[in-house]
Amino acid sequence: MMIQETLSTPVKMECDVLVAGGGIAGISAAIAAAREGKSVILCERMFMLGGLATAGLVTVYLPLCDGYGRQVSFGISEELLRLSVAESPIDSRGYHDWIAHPESEHNENTPRYAVDFNPHLFAINTEKLLLSLGVKILYGTTVVQALAKNGLVEAVICEGKAERFAIRVKAVVDSTGDADVATFADIPTALFKQGNVLAGWYYSVSEQGYKLHMVGACDVPDEDKNGTEGKPLIQRRFQSIETVELSEQTILSHEATHNHYLRMQKTDKTHEPVTIASIPQVRMTRRVDGEYTLDTPEMHTFFADSIGLVSNWKKRGPVYEVPFRTLYSDKVKNVFFAGRCTSCTDAMWDIMRVIPCCAVTGEASGIASALFAECGEVSLLTLQEKLQSRGVVLHEKDLK
Ligand SMILES: Cc1cc2nc3c(=O)[nH]c(=O)nc-3n(C[C@H](O)[C@H](O)[C@H](O)COP(=O)(O)OP(=O)(O)OC[C@H]3O[C@@H](n4cnc5c(N)ncnc54)[C@H](O)[C@@H]3O)c2cc1C
Repeated sequence: MMIQETLSTPVKMECDVLVAGGGIAGISAAIAAAREGKSVILCERMFMLGGLATAGLVTVYLPLCDGYGRQVSFGISEELLRLSVAESPIDSRGYHDWIAHPESEHNENTPRYAVDFNPHLFAINTEKLLLSLGVKILYGTTVVQALAKNGLVEAVICEGKAERFAIRVKAVVDSTGDADVATFADIPTALFKQGNVLAGWYYSVSEQGYKLHMVGACDVPDEDKNGTEGKPLIQRRFQSIETVELSEQTILSHEATHNHYLRMQKTDKTHEPVTIASIPQVRMTRRVDGEYTLDTPEMHTFFADSIGLVSNWKKRGPVYEVPFRTLYSDKVKNVFFAGRCTSCTDAMWDIMRVIPCCAVTGEASGIASALFAECGEVSLLTLQEKLQSRGVVLHEKDLK
């Protein structure tokens, strides 16, 4: 059964660049577009920035380096890593060791350039940074539609607490994590075939202090699936897009957290949960089917349209150049993708979805959207020059 609605939506705002979703990718895109002097509105359905990295309690900023002492990701990816620990002393991953020594002293036996961070301070400090750059943040605002005409999105429709309204846009960054804008604008997408396993990461306090518990299993590939703290509650997999299924996944995730707490209580009566995730802990859901789809064997491959480098958090060694073509589809020319919804194969997705990579694609999409807002097209040369002027290394051959 269908119900027909007739809607008349007021245009409430306009901007050069609309960033849909304020996770790591959206934060990076908004910073980059604002630094290009563009008016930027960031719509975030929750009431804090950071997405999975903060509200989802994924507080491990995976490495910027290749594991053999070479830093490969730069620009906003490094800026946000440093911001994430600017006010907190957490350092169980060797960050201080990394910055205290020249790269030449790092090797396969020394810690990688990664940190653990405090999610609350990181959310507050990214908010301060965006405000200082003039980004307008709309919290509690979900992008629910994108109106495309002649291959361009002209406006996005948002729903907030009080009303439904339109924002006129020149360019859009889809950093929703789930390629929502792509779906609304009829841009081709693909689902993660295997589906997500359950996760129930949470923080506890006890006499031992404040601690993150990584309850659940890793995702891809199946043979790498080792339980971390405790086994997953069930082996069911979730597509993690549709409301009823997502709700079931969330309830089961709460149950996994609770079971872990009960187990811990048997040996430590002081153990108590203090923070559970306020968004679903989903890894790979829906992505754009872009002009290029990056795959795992393409490590150390030169791409003329590279927008930056990423490493493999699972293995020391591999370095990938990220083609600009993974960040858009020609079907709609003013929408750029960032974070965990860029164009890559299922195996590559497990590499591209992590925090440093989301910042790399966020920065590039932010500048690309600013260029589109200015000129009605993106010159690859200008995009690459701007990235390089911000310290980004585009090609592996140019690493020190
Ligand atoms: C259990 C688990 C463990 C992980 N472990 C690690 C790890 O150790 N280290 C690491 O680096 N990475 C890890 N990751 C991956 C990483 O945390 C995320 O993939 C990354 O943070 C995603 O960033 P993003 O900005 O692309 O998306 P998200 O963080 O998902 O951000 C998307 C944002 O958009 C908002 N949004 C969504 N739809 C809309 C809409 N229609 N309108 C408005 N707002 C919208 C959301 O509320 C959210 O804030 C893990 C992920 C999971 C689930």
